[in-house]
Formats: sequence, structure tokens, C-alpha cells
Amino acid sequence: SNPIIVIGAGQAAASFVATLRSHEYEGRIIMIGDEAYLPYQRPPLSKRYLLGQMDLSRLLLRPQDWYEDHKVELKLNTRVESINRQDKSVSLSNSETLNYSQLMLCTGSTPHWLPEAIGGRLSGIYTLRGLNDVDQMKHEFTEGKKLLIVGGGYIGLEAAAVASDLGLQVTVVELADRILQRVASPATSEYFRTIHQLNNITILENTGLKSFTDKEGHVRSALLSDGSEIAVDFVITGIGVAPNTQLAEDAGLTIDNGIAVNLQSQTSDVSIYSAGDCASFEYQGQRIRLESVQNAVEQAENAAMHILGEPVQYQPIPWFWSDQYKTKLQIAGLNQGYNDTVTRPGKREGSLSIWYYKDQQFLAVDAMNDPIAYSMGRKILAAGKNIPKEAAADVSVNLKDYT
Ligand code: FAD
Repeated sequence: SNPIIVIGAGQAAASFVATLRSHEYEGRIIMIGDEAYLPYQRPPLSKRYLLGQMDLSRLLLRPQDWYEDHKVELKLNTRVESINRQDKSVSLSNSETLNYSQLMLCTGSTPHWLPEAIGGRLSGIYTLRGLNDVDQMKHEFTEGKKLLIVGGGYIGLEAAAVASDLGLQVTVVELADRILQRVASPATSEYFRTIHQLNNITILENTGLKSFTDKEGHVRSALLSDGSEIAVDFVITGIGVAPNTQLAEDAGLTIDNGIAVNLQSQTSDVSIYSAGDCASFEYQGQRIRLESVQNAVEQAENAAMHILGEPVQYQPIPWFWSDQYKTKLQIAGLNQGYNDTVTRPGKREGSLSIWYYKDQQFLAVDAMNDPIAYSMGRKILAAGKNIPKEAAADVSVNLKDYT
């Protein structure tokens, strides 16, 4: 019979093929990726890899031998150009056409760029998604250089921390009234604002980017919405991503805030699955996408289990992390829809956790240098239990009693 074909060779793709093989799936598997590398982890790209403390071999999710030993046929540097659902085939950039029995879409997402009309494509302006992006910008990270980061989300703030550690002069502009506004509570924003300011980073909130000026095509300064102009040597934009849905859309699959999948990661075509940043699923009455390792791994595993005939329902207990300076942020749960938070002081200096609630229901926790708060929060969620606000905020309460 025809092989299972995986489009994309990233986090979700790697989990998918590993799950199939670990459950003794014996059919052919072909993985097609348009980057030059074996599947690798992206999180270190804005953290230790950018800092120069990690090399490529440690970024890889599995070594080359693994794919050979497990008979996963890899086609790297190759793009899937189209899907033909009638023939159950895909056409590749190298002009090959391959038939599939089942197809898995793990195409990930693409960062937004600032508009070309305001200078968004000048040389010296970067986005941060892949290894090539980091390798292209790395030479800029020399002491004293002026870096502007557009967007105060996790990736922008992590890059800011690395740049500060390497002695650059960093400014972060954030259009919203606070950094991390889209993803975290005011208390979490405040914690991170403070640590960045302590590391000499200028954070400009409520500030938009109007345009760039250049010198011979290379970015030279940024004009901000408050009327100021700041000199820059280079710029990193971290203003969000769009899911890579074009292939699926052209093939007539249902798209709804991403490639729409059910809780077994199946798209509107029963032979086609999707997982990771590109896929949207139903969560508490809404169709959401999660841009995280946890989601890519679990959705991919679920697709494999469905193909193996042992379907599981996706019931995510989301988790996420971010490293900035000496702070490790760990998040359990999804704070979507929260209307209150309480703060729990940690036992060490600089440790703290913020507990999110919708009315009286505990939803999620942001734990800064507090792995116990994180793991207890996660256990409470996994058990489907609740913890009253007063208890979460009270350091004398043993969180374990609520797990
Ligand atoms: P990807 O890993 O992006 O893989 C998709 C692959 O498909 C890409 O290689 C793409 O080029 C390829 N592709 C797309 N279209 C085609 C095509 N037509 N043909 C062939 N190949 C194609 N998550 C966390 O949980 N914690 C973190 O701390 C964290 N930090 C991050 C830091 C950075 C800098 C970035 C960029 C992401 C971070 N994430 C983090 C998010 C996490 O890495 C992603 O959610 C995860 O990689 C998603 O996996 P994926 O398989 O969906 O997509």
C-alpha cells in the first residue's frame, strides 16, 4: 500500500513518526521538509542557541541514525507544492509526485513581517523562526550594538535578554499598554518589565513603530509613534505568526483559525491529519491554536494513535516555558477567559507565582522560578480539581493538599 506522507519536518512531524514506530507501525513513512535540517527544537533559538551556548547537534530532536534505523524516509530541502485529494497524491518542488495512504500536515507557522511600505524589509531587519534566521542574525550580536525589538512577547523578550547578556543596547517597543499583554496578566508583565529594566533594557509600552529610515538599504533608525527617532544597528520583529494553511486551503480542507481538526487531529478529509502550530481545535467552545511544544507533540501523537486504531481524545493540559536572564517561567493551563488573578509569593528571592481564575475556577498558573507552584498547579488541573483563591495566595497552605 501507499506510504504515510508527512509534510513538514519539525516538532509535530518528529513526534508523529516516533509514535507510529514505537507502536510497531511497519508501513512506509516519508517525511518531507523544506528546511535543510533534521527536525529540531525551536525554543532554544531565542534562548541558549542564540546565546551561543548550544550547538546544532543538541538542537536536533533525534540524530540522523534514528531515521535510518526506524526507516523514516527523509526528503529535506524539499517543498510540497500541492495536494491532490482525488488521486491521494502530493507534488513536490523537485517535480516528484508521491501517492499517500494517509497524509499528515505539520506545516507550522510563519512570522509576520512589518509592511514593506514602512521599511519592514530593509537589510538588518530580522524575524526569528528558524535556524537560518538565527544564523543570519548572529553576527549582529556584538557588544555595544543598538538592537530594537518590535513586540514584547515571549520571543522578543527572550532575544532581548540574550542581547543584554551579550552587552548590546536594547530597546523594546510594544504597541499594547504592556508587554506580554496578549498572553499574561498585568502582574506577570510587571515582573518581566522589572527584570528587563534591571538589565538596562529600555521598554517603551503604548508605543508603535511608524517607519524605518535606511542608509544604502540598511536600517539606520526607527521612527516611533510618540514622535521620537531612535538610532538602530539592527531590528528583530516578534509580532506574531500566521499558521501555514495555504496547502490545505488550496486542497479544499476546512480552515477556521488554522487547519480545522477534530480531537483526534483529523481534518475535514478522513485521510488527512494535521498537528502543531498550523492546526486549530475545539477547546471550551472555541476553535483555538496553540503555539507550543506540548501542543505539537500531543496533537501529533493523537494523529498517530488514530491511524494505529487506538484513538484518544485530545484533552490538553497546556504547558509552556520561557527563560529570561536567570528567570525560568513555567506556565500550566490556559488563562483564556480569566477575570481575576492572585499572587503567591515564592520561597526564594525572585520567585513568585500568579494564579488565574475565571470567577472562582482556577485556570492556569505562571510560575517564576517556582517549579513547585508550577507542578502543583499542573497536577490540580490534570486531576480536574480546583483551588480557592485564598488558598493559592496563602504561602502557609500546602498546595499538595489540593492535587
Ligand atoms: P515547526 O516546528 O515550525 O515545523 C514546521 C515545518 O514545516 C517547518 O520546518 C516548515 O519550514 C515546514 N514546512 C512548512 N510548509 C512546508 C511545505 N509546504 N513543504 C515542506 N515543508 C514545509 N514553544 C514552547 O512550548 N516553549 C518555548 O519556550 C518556545 N519557544 C520558542 C521560541 C522560538 C524562537 C520559536 C520560533 C518558537 C518557540 N516555541 C516554544 C514554539 C514551538 O517551537 C512551536 O510551537 C513548535 O515548533 C511547533 O511545531 P510544528 O511542528 O507545528 O512546526
